[in-house]
Amino acid sequence: MQTDQQAAIADQYGVLIDGTERDVSGETIDVFDPATGDRLTTVAAATADDVNEAVDVAQEGFETWRGYTPAKRCRILNDVARAIRDEKERFARIETLENGKPISEARGQIARCARHFEYYGGLADKVEGESIPLDDDHVDYTIREPLGVTGHIVPWNVPAYLFARSVAPALAAGNAAVVKPAEETPIGALELTKLLHENGVPEAAVNVVPGEGDPAGATLSGHPDIGSVTFTGSTATGRAVGKAAIDNLTEPHLELGGKSPLVVYEDGDLDVAVAETIKGIFATNTGQVCSASSRVVVHEDVSDAYVDKLVAAVEELSIGPGVDDHDVGPLASATHMEKVAEYFDIGREELGEPVTGGRVLDRDGYYVEPTVFADVPQDARICQEEVFGPVLTVSTFADEAEAIRRANDVDYGLVAGVVTTDLGKAHRFARDVDAGQIYVNEWFAGGNETPFGGFKDSGVGRENGTQAIHNYTQIKNVCLDISD
Ligand code: NAD
Repeated sequence: MQTDQQAAIADQYGVLIDGTERDVSGETIDVFDPATGDRLTTVAAATADDVNEAVDVAQEGFETWRGYTPAKRCRILNDVARAIRDEKERFARIETLENGKPISEARGQIARCARHFEYYGGLADKVEGESIPLDDDHVDYTIREPLGVTGHIVPWNVPAYLFARSVAPALAAGNAAVVKPAEETPIGALELTKLLHENGVPEAAVNVVPGEGDPAGATLSGHPDIGSVTFTGSTATGRAVGKAAIDNLTEPHLELGGKSPLVVYEDGDLDVAVAETIKGIFATNTGQVCSASSRVVVHEDVSDAYVDKLVAAVEELSIGPGVDDHDVGPLASATHMEKVAEYFDIGREELGEPVTGGRVLDRDGYYVEPTVFADVPQDARICQEEVFGPVLTVSTFADEAEAIRRANDVDYGLVAGVVTTDLGKAHRFARDVDAGQIYVNEWFAGGNETPFGGFKDSGVGRENGTQAIHNYTQIKNVCLDISD
């Protein structure tokens, strides 16, 4: 059991329906601190019946919440944002304890979480329809209506922000929510939901059903009475969630995996290239980021210089517990550490020794070394498959056409970045690369306000920005005959 007073994590949590934690007498899941392997808490594993009840209760919550004026919903969501900021340190510690990420990064994610409620609070009273000119005999207008109960299935890599990413716009548009957090990281979602209730969101309007992907997630995504399901997670699970939703003609929003290229042109600043690579694949959440810069594609004339600088920088990174704010924290779970270690073996079999890293560290907790494989052919598995850890492939190119071809030649299309001082090259890259986000000279560019989502196997739909309100509304057209 953890003893971090500031995090104030309870010894156990129940399924949270209608503001009440249910008895933890059935199946449970232990949650571990990845930095030590110690148990943090025990959480009830929601059954299919729990999920069905949560959806029923959320229907009632929807009636209450949609009955509030948009201005009142706006004020409440802004109060939520303020309350999260007031408790930023506590939520950051929870995020670090359950996920492992460095505490300074966790603080940044909690700031983004608060900003999301503020941003969508600001939009809650601006969900507007249109007036459509037809002829003198008609008046035509549209109304944007909420969907009702929306389902939200969240992964373990950024638990608080990814909770907010879909719940905040869904609430702003007048919906009620049922949230299924990841098995590894349910604490943030449970504690945030309590905070929402304390700040005026009706208890029935946000419910949390922690538990296994099946039954909890599968029952939610296949529930006939939800209006949409927003799933953030792996491409394989996303396909299953999408199919279950479509069987009920429920709208799926799928935010899935990535294998994102960072292309370094010969005119680019190598110091920028190295710094952005470090940030993009190693020093942010230990590479467990959907939009990680997991593939570098560098011009052959500068590849040796780039790799030398990169390896020197990687070997400077400190590895240790997130609470001590090292550059690189542990991986989020023992299971995930085994998966990443398998990719060390796959990489070695395909390519030989990495130029740096490639080992699981012999200490408590789930630590691996930041790892770089160089001269990687495009068809290598470690160049094609998402590792979701601190494992980078470096490949070279001879000309712009080859750079673009390599950037595109994977199944994913979430993010692509380029380091160049040539504006023409940057714009051609943005035009020709198939990805939902293009970063120029800065990895993880953009923010809560900018659309985020994937091309190809990286997903369906977009989160963030004003258009995310459209994910959680449907249009009703009203046409009146006003002729004499
Ligand atoms: P995952 O697909 O294993 O699990 C994600 C969530 O789905 C968890 O809550 C899990 O319990 C639930 N789930 C599992 N089986 C289910 C089922 N049959 N039906 C419904 N729900 C089910 O993914 P993960 O390993 O937790 O997360 C890592 C993946 O998430 C990576 O591929 C990463 O790229 C992706 N991701 C994408 C984004 C994005 O915005 N595109 C953001 C973060 C993570």
